[in-house]
Amino acid sequence: MKGRFFDLMRCSLSGLRDLFFERSCAVCGGTLASEEHLVCDRCRSDIPLTYFWNYSENAAMERLFDCRVSNAAALFFYRHDSPYCEIVRKFKYGRRRDLGLWAARLLGSYMAGGGLYGKVQAVVPVPLHPLKRWKRGFNQAEIIARGVAQKLGGLAVAGNLLRRRRYTSTQTRRSAQSRRRNVSGAFSLNAQQAARLKASGINHILLVDDVLTTGATLKECIRLLQPHFIVSVATLGFVE
Ligand SMILES: [Zn+2]
Repeated sequence: MKGRFFDLMRCSLSGLRDLFFERSCAVCGGTLASEEHLVCDRCRSDIPLTYFWNYSENAAMERLFDCRVSNAAALFFYRHDSPYCEIVRKFKYGRRRDLGLWAARLLGSYMAGGGLYGKVQAVVPVPLHPLKRWKRGFNQAEIIARGVAQKLGGLAVAGNLLRRRRYTSTQTRRSAQSRRRNVSGAFSLNAQQAARLKASGINHILLVDDVLTTGATLKECIRLLQPHFIVSVATLGFVE
């Protein structure tokens, strides 16, 4: 009798959960089975992973080569016609923080398993301009930083080390040259915060963003960080 009561409770609780939470796969849109969460098992097993976390020489590294980055990783290949882009799109524009955090934790687990990121001591998100952050309600890079930091052994997230000085329009439809111009001088380093981190023994940081396209934004941030820190990089998506 007692068992049946708990079964009933469990059923009604999962029914309630289905009412309040998204119950379709964020990638294929199919209905999720009751034991599946956010992304269905089939889509999870088919993610076009980059495996960059296993290699110190990879395509992400090559793109950031002139910045002398220590290591660079990305979770999956971001192809504009691929349904997996939905993970980033729904996260950024559909305010699905749960999806971003899930993908970030997945990336963090792979990075921890690969063994190349054991020397990272803090995670730094690429900042959003305060106005853009206010409009979106959150900074997507900060959520990715949190998920990755968790899986890299509970590292600190240094959210205010970099600042966005200029409001830049979206990079999405810009050429490589125009992207560089658009972000040139857009960031500044919080020198006090950098000194505090250095004083607490932090020398190696992981810079985090949502998608690595031409690398213009990341390079601009790395340029500011490099006089003070060894820099590694991680993103969710990598545009081939
Ligand atoms: Zn699916």
